[in-house]
Amino acid sequence: MTRDLPILVVGAGLGGVAAALGLARKGRRVRILEATAELGVIGYGIQLGPNVFRMFRELGVEEAVLKHSHFPPDVMMLDALSGEEVMKVDARAPFRERFGDPYVAIHRVDLHGCLLDACKGLDNVEIMPSTELASFEDLGDRVRATSKDGRVIEGAALIGADGLGSTVRAKLVKEEPPRPIGYVAHRTIVPWDKAPASVRRDEVILWGGPGFHIVQYPLRDKTLFNIVAVFKTPDIHQRADAETYRKVLMETYANAHPSMLEMLAMMDVERRWVLADRDPVRHWSKGRVTMLGDAAHPTLQSYAQGACMAIEDAVVLASSVDAAKGDFETAFRNYENVRYLRAARVVLESRALWEFYHLGGVARDVRNDECKGRSRDDVYKCLAWIYDGVDVATGLATPRAGTP
Ligand SMILES: Cc1cc2nc3c(=O)[nH]c(=O)nc-3n(C[C@H](O)[C@H](O)[C@H](O)COP(=O)(O)OP(=O)(O)OC[C@H]3O[C@@H](n4cnc5c(N)ncnc54)[C@H](O)[C@@H]3O)c2cc1C
Repeated sequence: MTRDLPILVVGAGLGGVAAALGLARKGRRVRILEATAELGVIGYGIQLGPNVFRMFRELGVEEAVLKHSHFPPDVMMLDALSGEEVMKVDARAPFRERFGDPYVAIHRVDLHGCLLDACKGLDNVEIMPSTELASFEDLGDRVRATSKDGRVIEGAALIGADGLGSTVRAKLVKEEPPRPIGYVAHRTIVPWDKAPASVRRDEVILWGGPGFHIVQYPLRDKTLFNIVAVFKTPDIHQRADAETYRKVLMETYANAHPSMLEMLAMMDVERRWVLADRDPVRHWSKGRVTMLGDAAHPTLQSYAQGACMAIEDAVVLASSVDAAKGDFETAFRNYENVRYLRAARVVLESRALWEFYHLGGVARDVRNDECKGRSRDDVYKCLAWIYDGVDVATGLATPRAGTP
């Protein structure tokens, strides 16, 4: 009977939809429970490392994703005060040769759409919008989920892909709420021709300064320009009008490079994101219930890998379920075992990189000086542990030639 029940995926973010697609491609019935009425509407840019393209191939969406992608020639860090180059990842041909796949920037709505369209083309995926999970029970031979409006939905197993404030996690892992780091973000997309001509616009650029940064890159065939402003503030939960937010922004970035000030002037400051992660844990599965993505291991966005990790999780999880032939407990344990070290490393190294981006004073001088000596290959070596990716079937790292 359990075999006939669908697997319940809670959350239709990038991780949840990727998991549904992966499981459905392995012949499983899947039902996605999504709290919001409309799916995938967070409309900002996202960067994707080469490691996630192997996952897209497995999911059958690589071509669609590539069609919507922008291919930056370089991914750079500039010093936010002086404008000098601190670090550069050459993302041209040598990068593709080294890592086998490109580095891209893509509109989140487009990426979500690629995954969702592929799901819609399969008759074993059902999506239930306006279905917010309130609680669940593992009944041993199946799971029972209850929505906030009182509907009861049974499944063979349950996968929490419900993001940073996960309801599934609250029951599986005993711990404190997510850890805010004292920084907030504002995100904006402007028409390409409004983007300041004074900045390099083809590249992905992070301007790192003491207590603040900006990330910028083009989207959709260079018709749009994505800007994210991130900064430290003593009042992360402040709820204020746009004028007050703008004042705080301008004070915070007062010493920033003039090009950054031009970008800030066009920021939409209506909405603020409070940035947080969690300390990594070894276990995030129990019985017929597991988690993935931000629900399992939320990370700071320093490496731009949160969504990439969620999609890697999704594909490895689908393979693990397939290999265990309906033994969900074994499947989830194996999946967790191969994922936790990699995910934890991303969380921990993202914290270190966060510090690196935001250095001030002498530490900043040392950073800038030390980085000058790095060759293209040195930079590739530093990133190989992420970008070499993992094997789809086993979830194990797949170092290529030249990896340290
Ligand atoms: C400013 C910023 C920039 C970023 N840039 C990048 C980047 O460039 N590259 C990258 O790889 N990552 C990036 N990330 C990280 C990335 O956005 C996340 O890691 C990723 O979206 C996580 O996906 P997810 O599916 O696990 O969770 P989410 O995207 O959070 O999806 C969770 C879904 O679950 C639903 N949900 C929540 N609770 C319930 C419930 N109780 N019942 C039913 N549904 C529920 C939500 O409505 C949502 O649809 C960035 C993050 C931020 C904040």
